[in-house]
Amino acid sequence: MENKNFTKVTLMFFRIISWFDVFASRYFFKTTQLNENEGMLMEQDCVFCDIISDKKPASIVYSDEKVIAFMVIRPINPGHLIMIPKTHASGLSELDEEMGAHMFKVALRIVNAIKKSGIECEGINLFLSDGEAAAQEIFHIHLHVVPRFFGDGFGVKYGPNNFLEPSREELDKIAATIRNSLEE
Ligand SMILES: [Zn+2]
Repeated sequence: MENKNFTKVTLMFFRIISWFDVFASRYFFKTTQLNENEGMLMEQDCVFCDIISDKKPASIVYSDEKVIAFMVIRPINPGHLIMIPKTHASGLSELDEEMGAHMFKVALRIVNAIKKSGIECEGINLFLSDGEAAAQEIFHIHLHVVPRFFGDGFGVKYGPNNFLEPSREELDKIAATIRNSLEE
């Protein structure tokens, strides 16, 4: 009987240790190390870096030395794709201006291509989420290109404090705050 209990306790102990190990490796010791791949910075455990380095499949629409654009696996509408920089940048603050400009330039070409392609498209949204509060889910910055059509059911939800009309004074004050921050 005692022996049985001992085995139980031992098993339990090892189970807890292995749970902790899984937990710890996911949350405490998550590798955020950057590796080099053909001169580009790659982050371990980043699904987009894995696509760039061919470790994960993707339906590629466009690729050059700086960016890659590929189809979203759960699209809002057919033709929904995302464009990412080939160098890992988790958010906008890590993106240099030249890369940002290049991303937008390529996005314009893709927008025109979608419009010409025959894919259902009565409008297009370009959107980019920076930060968890802005609904960013994958922390390798990405620009969505989403073909839209009337009745597609997609929309942005508004809260009760959105679209209040601040006074001109208040707008001027906020403008000055941002202006000062720009000049710093
Ligand atoms: Zn990445």
